[in-house]
Amino acid sequence: MRQKIVAGNWKMNTNREEAESLAAALSSQFIGGSGVKMVVCPPFPWIMSVNQLLSVTEIAIGAQNCSGQSSGAFTGEVSASMLASAGVSYVITGHSERRSLYNESDADVLTKTLKILGENMTPIVCVGETLQERESGRLEEIISRQITSVLNGLNKDQIASIVIAYEPVWAIGTGLTASPEQAQEVHAFIRSLISGISGAEVADSLPILYGGSCNPGNAASLFACPDIDGGLIGGASLKAADFISISNSF
Ligand code: PEP
Repeated sequence: MRQKIVAGNWKMNTNREEAESLAAALSSQFIGGSGVKMVVCPPFPWIMSVNQLLSVTEIAIGAQNCSGQSSGAFTGEVSASMLASAGVSYVITGHSERRSLYNESDADVLTKTLKILGENMTPIVCVGETLQERESGRLEEIISRQITSVLNGLNKDQIASIVIAYEPVWAIGTGLTASPEQAQEVHAFIRSLISGISGAEVADSLPILYGGSCNPGNAASLFACPDIDGGLIGGASLKAADFISISNSF
């Protein structure tokens, strides 16, 4: 049985008061025991206080990014070891906003993934095609490049320790969701790529999340697909009731 995961990416939203009241609402509405791992990824400055507010729950803390460097003169950067010592256990890498707005390459995604694994945290490695790439028939080429460039830099144990998120760029923050059939097709393709690199056992055990306008209304049909093991949730993770409802959609 693969771990089911619902992770919330708060992006650059919430001031301190809003972050703390969202965490308090999650804490009061959280009911454990479902076997679904919930993760929230607040902006860096709120990680410690959100962690404290959620400490009575089993909700884990994630971060939205980290530096590819270990330490030193890198003004404005936050290292993986800093995040680990702040109580973070998951870190998003390769989000399409980082790739497109900050020119992060496949090589950067691998470097960060290795730093995260080096601190015993779980990388959530995001991949996904743009609408133009999909419509020009390049879907498999793009997904294959993004997946293999990370997986080829990891050993088998490291591959078995990551989580992948398939996030079609055209579905992120747009209200357009991939249909369950479209998402399942790509998830199965990703699992076949993993299997080709590290074998069926690792491929069968690795959680692959769907992300892109996932909400309480469409989560159940997506999560019912055999290769979809949960979601990476943007907008809908900013409302406690919606986020909890999504995590109850298996
Ligand atoms: C995301 O940014 O990872 C995401 C899935 O956003 P949204 O749910 O808002 O589309």
